[in-house]
Amino acid sequence: MSDIRDFILGKTRGLVYTPLMDEMLIAEEKKKRDTKRKKGLYPSSLAHPCLRYIINSYNQVEAKKKIDPRILRIFDMGNAVHKRYEIYSKKMGVLIKKEFPLRYKKLKIRGRLDQLLLIENVLYLFECKSMKDEKWKKLFGVPPQDYRIQVQLYLLLLNMLFKERKNKFFEKYGKYFPIKKSILFIEDKDNQKTEEIIIEENEEQKKYILDKIEKINYYINKNIEPPLKMIDQCNEYGGCCFKHYCYGENK
Ligand code: SF4
Repeated sequence: MSDIRDFILGKTRGLVYTPLMDEMLIAEEKKKRDTKRKKGLYPSSLAHPCLRYIINSYNQVEAKKKIDPRILRIFDMGNAVHKRYEIYSKKMGVLIKKEFPLRYKKLKIRGRLDQLLLIENVLYLFECKSMKDEKWKKLFGVPPQDYRIQVQLYLLLLNMLFKERKNKFFEKYGKYFPIKKSILFIEDKDNQKTEEIIIEENEEQKKYILDKIEKINYYINKNIEPPLKMIDQCNEYGGCCFKHYCYGENK
């Protein structure tokens, strides 16, 4: 394909903007990686099937991830989708909180909710995702397990915080708690079609999440590492970024 493009475009093909942009993106990413984020168990890593991975992330073990400007642009595109839906919710008059930071010290959890919405007197957690058409079609309308776990975890955390924390936010919206429903909203990256899935609080999944978090906290508090996964499994998980730490530099 690139050969055809080279043939058609010939010398007119420019490389003026792209290298500068890539350089800027790489520099920004390096800066971000050098600034350690606050220590905590983040929902994005909690869904990982390897407990060791979750604990390595918690302990801020250096992850070996190649910096690819194209991937960085994909993340930026995802962030732009979030911003757009914040604007939509605000214009619709249903947004009551955006980018809501959540911290539950007892379980060492930190996270950030996309949006909280109030629609016809019902409080909804709104989690926004964007996905390629090809991936979405393969799911047959069923959201991935890690998305569902993330949403259940946020519902759980919000309700636990509501029970324990007295602040202006919970005083103002307390009558709408406990929050029972969330909207998992997915936009197709290729054609902007949207899909909305209502996820209700689920006792079975809540128990699964709490059990997993307790297990992780056990390892963290005792300062012991969970068993290694088989190397084949590590490779399955997208070539885990902690392989150098778990298996040595040459793996
Ligand atoms: S390299 Fe393997 S054992 Fe180590 S964190 Fe990754 S998946 Fe887990």
